[in-house]
Amino acid sequence: MIGGGYVGLVSGACFAEFGVEVAVVETHPGRLESLRQGRIPIYEPGLDTLVAANIAAGRLSFGDDIREAVAGAEAVFIAVGTPPRNGDGHADLTYVFAAAEQVAQALSGYAVIVTKSTVPVGTSRRIAEIVRHARPDLEFDVASNPEFLREGSAIADFMRPDRVVIGTDVTQDGGSERAQEVMRRLYRPLYLIEAPILFTSLESSELIKYAANSFLAMKISFINEMADLCERVGGDVHDVARGIGLDGRIGRKFLHAGPGYGGSCFPKDTLALMRIAQEAGASSRLVEATVQVNDARKASMGARIMSACGGSVRGKTIAVLGLTFKPETDDMRDAPSIPIVHRLVENGAAVRVYDPVGMEAARASMPERVTYCADALDAARDADALILVTEWNAFRAIAPARLRDLMRGRIVIDLRNVYDPAAMAAAGLDYSSIGRPSRG
Ligand code: NAD
Repeated sequence: MIGGGYVGLVSGACFAEFGVEVAVVETHPGRLESLRQGRIPIYEPGLDTLVAANIAAGRLSFGDDIREAVAGAEAVFIAVGTPPRNGDGHADLTYVFAAAEQVAQALSGYAVIVTKSTVPVGTSRRIAEIVRHARPDLEFDVASNPEFLREGSAIADFMRPDRVVIGTDVTQDGGSERAQEVMRRLYRPLYLIEAPILFTSLESSELIKYAANSFLAMKISFINEMADLCERVGGDVHDVARGIGLDGRIGRKFLHAGPGYGGSCFPKDTLALMRIAQEAGASSRLVEATVQVNDARKASMGARIMSACGGSVRGKTIAVLGLTFKPETDDMRDAPSIPIVHRLVENGAAVRVYDPVGMEAARASMPERVTYCADALDAARDADALILVTEWNAFRAIAPARLRDLMRGRIVIDLRNVYDPAAMAAAGLDYSSIGRPSRG
């Protein structure tokens, strides 16, 4: 497994749990050092126990020596980052191609080189070219096996996926059968639980990942627009989401209105899909609109908060609960909290923040002048307004009366609709949420 980040580490530990011998190669000195000491460098529920059990069983190891790691391997997964390339939205494939080159140099016999990173259509074929060029003598196949796990429930997602997608080079005579056979054996435990395993061409497989993420992003932008409409015309976006979501053709998931999507995948994958379409001369207007709606939404949250605070936050103390892009992760990449907190600080607010696990990770993207608090109630103390940005479970249980007693002001802005408007109003709080009437 090349890359020991969110995807590489979880996939590696899960394959090891399936009984496969896994060697993870990680080049980041800090990450590797902590893995070697048995510490997990990211926050993912259950991962520490899974990793420890599989190290103890001798099936999982970490190192930076790629030759050692791939010796005797039947499959080598590339699970390195594919961040957006500076400025233009293309996926940056530098790490993927460097890894392919290193794998080519290190292999001593047949292996399937599998792309687990999210990569544009055509990348697996380019990997094949790189390997062929570096090692004309080497027997190998390439495969595309995009990962659909979600941070925060990554282990369950990997162990009980809705589907596994495996793309192979179907244009190559017989070549893909050998690769398919290796992949089929790797995922055998999932056959037993009847997870659908879909064999496709390399191109379809690569596209499936971008199409899936773009579709989910589109659902979020759609319900966010419906939330705005509810606010204008007097509706409740919860009822609308439930009313449409119970239609099996639409589905209930991913219809939660909020401050706009963030994270390490949706923003970059939607942009990358637009670029892929553009280069292919195809239209991607729905995805473009999805991105525009989301960008505007994230940018508008600051104004929404200012207006809820009476037009200005200057000199006010604002508590912000939740910083990570979603609960149960420490991932701060593209989190909606970032533009919100910056906007508040720029406009003269004193901002007190709290996140259950993301405080360390948040420091790099937060403005200097924020106060990091010990817990949610500490953040709320003497605040003029409180904003819930990420819906960690710990925040759901806070009693409205407790907030009222601790806060100096009465304003509560709930960007995730977790609180009951009637209970907030009953406690005397001036509560607003997304796409719902403020008094329930
Ligand atoms: P990440 O940044 O957490 O991890 C990548 C790791 O690879 C880093 O630790 C980096 O040091 C290491 N690395 C880079 N080059 C290396 C090399 N040559 N040898 C060894 N290690 C190397 O990224 P991530 O979140 O795990 O994402 C990886 C890929 O998976 C991306 O393409 C992403 O789009 C995709 N993906 C991510 C998620 C998610 O939820 N994070 C879900 C599905 C797919």
